[in-house]
Amino acid sequence: MFEIKTPRRVCTLDITPRVSQAVENIGLTEGAAMVYVPHTTAAVTINEGADFDVQRDILTTISKLIPRGGDYSHLEGNADAHIKSTLVGVSVLVPVSRGSLILGTWQKVFFCEFDGPRARKFYVIGLPGLVKEQ
Ligand code: ZN
Repeated sequence: MFEIKTPRRVCTLDITPRVSQAVENIGLTEGAAMVYVPHTTAAVTINEGADFDVQRDILTTISKLIPRGGDYSHLEGNADAHIKSTLVGVSVLVPVSRGSLILGTWQKVFFCEFDGPRARKFYVIGLPGLVKEQ
């Protein structure tokens, strides 16, 4: 289990180095790493990490689609964060080969906060056994 402190209500944080380190630590060489977020108002996604504006555009657009002050019934006042978590998803699966994450040139793994700032957690689960083309 990994702990992560999120600095704002809505943000994404690059957790790729921590996922890579986890894969190395468990000695996984061929297979996949599942990253799982055990929260109802946070998520995890894979997208571009080279141009930070991409993350800003994603968060701005998600917030336009699902405004904080929408017509919601949930009394806690964070219904938008629950909806964003469900749409983005709480897990990703990253293939691993030769001990390294298989990510595209611009891809990074991002922890997505939708109701911070908070102390959060995520898990990295190593799944051995990558099927190779025969
Ligand atoms: Zn709630």
